[in-house]
Amino acid sequence: GELTTPPDIQPSRLEIVKNENPKSLPDPKSLVFGHTFTDHMLTIPWSSKSGWGQPKIQPYGPFSLQPSATVLHYAQTLFEGMKAYRDQNGKVTLFRPDMNMKRMNTSAQRLALPTFNGDALLELIKTLVKIDRHWIPQLPGYSLYVRPTMMGTQAALGVSAPNEALLFVICSPVGPYYAGGFKPVALHASTEWVRAFPGGTGGFKLGANYAPGVVPQLEVAKQGFAQNLWLHGPEHYLTEVGTMNLFVVFRKPDGTIELTTPPLDGMILPGVTRDSVVTLARGHASKSLPLTGLPEKFEINERAVTMPEVKAAAENGSLVEMFGAGTAAIICPVNKIGYLGEDVPVPTGDDDAGLGPVARVMLNEISGRQLGTIPSDWSVIV
Ligand code: PMP
Repeated sequence: GELTTPPDIQPSRLEIVKNENPKSLPDPKSLVFGHTFTDHMLTIPWSSKSGWGQPKIQPYGPFSLQPSATVLHYAQTLFEGMKAYRDQNGKVTLFRPDMNMKRMNTSAQRLALPTFNGDALLELIKTLVKIDRHWIPQLPGYSLYVRPTMMGTQAALGVSAPNEALLFVICSPVGPYYAGGFKPVALHASTEWVRAFPGGTGGFKLGANYAPGVVPQLEVAKQGFAQNLWLHGPEHYLTEVGTMNLFVVFRKPDGTIELTTPPLDGMILPGVTRDSVVTLARGHASKSLPLTGLPEKFEINERAVTMPEVKAAAENGSLVEMFGAGTAAIICPVNKIGYLGEDVPVPTGDDDAGLGPVARVMLNEISGRQLGTIPSDWSVIV
């Protein structure tokens, strides 16, 4: 017979089952991150025999899974996180969703789960967001958190590539990460736990990367720190902070401001926010897109940074600031690092938000492009 390729995701086959019992909209002020979900979800089944099946938008609700489903035993699951914004005129946009589609495919490949056409999934996600658009609070700092997920559902024990999978997307209205406005956080530089290692899965957005981070988070919280600063190796290389990418700013002897972030060496999740900061910084450094507020003598370097380097810089005054970057908070300033029993102080901006000179510019440039106040092709209309 003829060789055929199993079908990819087909938006034209979408079936929509409207929720006949829509919930009443929550008071935005009462929202807790990721606790409230909209009326609908998107599901797309996959099997190795017939490829991607019929996409369906249906009422948000529980799944039925066999207790033997591989996801429940071997963590065959991956996810994405991105935000949709609704402006004063009701226009709804997503921020760089193509990056999330690419990263989701990279994660799927790493787990031997099926890959898919990212544009096709994005088209379906746009339809889902359109249907539930009234759930997006039109308040500053509010958005709809969109959570695409995929899991292996084959009902069989035995560690192998599942022959059945389910892709689904749920949506959660969320408020600003910092309810009381931005404020700097204290980090604990962990020498006793690692998040990722060479050849491991730190560079992919897999469910399996997150569960083991909870105990370290609880332990550092007990000691009064907000997040873990994940280190690697005897050199104590900085990798990531909590579930954010990390930026460290130094002042070089000639006065040049150097923005650094660890390179994508397989241990770092390639964050969309990270890429946005790096791209904006490159534009400024190369003078192709100068940013108001950043000095002319400015460099961006994706390079290894160690805790001894940060500590020495804090001591000799060449440490300018440090911040985390991710979809949830956008930018998160750091004011202190607990390291080997000592507190390393990190300079912050002098207002309450504590955003240093680079963090403040990056927050404005990125949030402006998310909300559409700065026109950009990073903002995609739903
Ligand atoms: N690192 C980790 C471990 C994360 O979970 C996230 C959140 N996705 C990030 C970094 C930031 O990535 P993004 O900017 O795409 O949200």
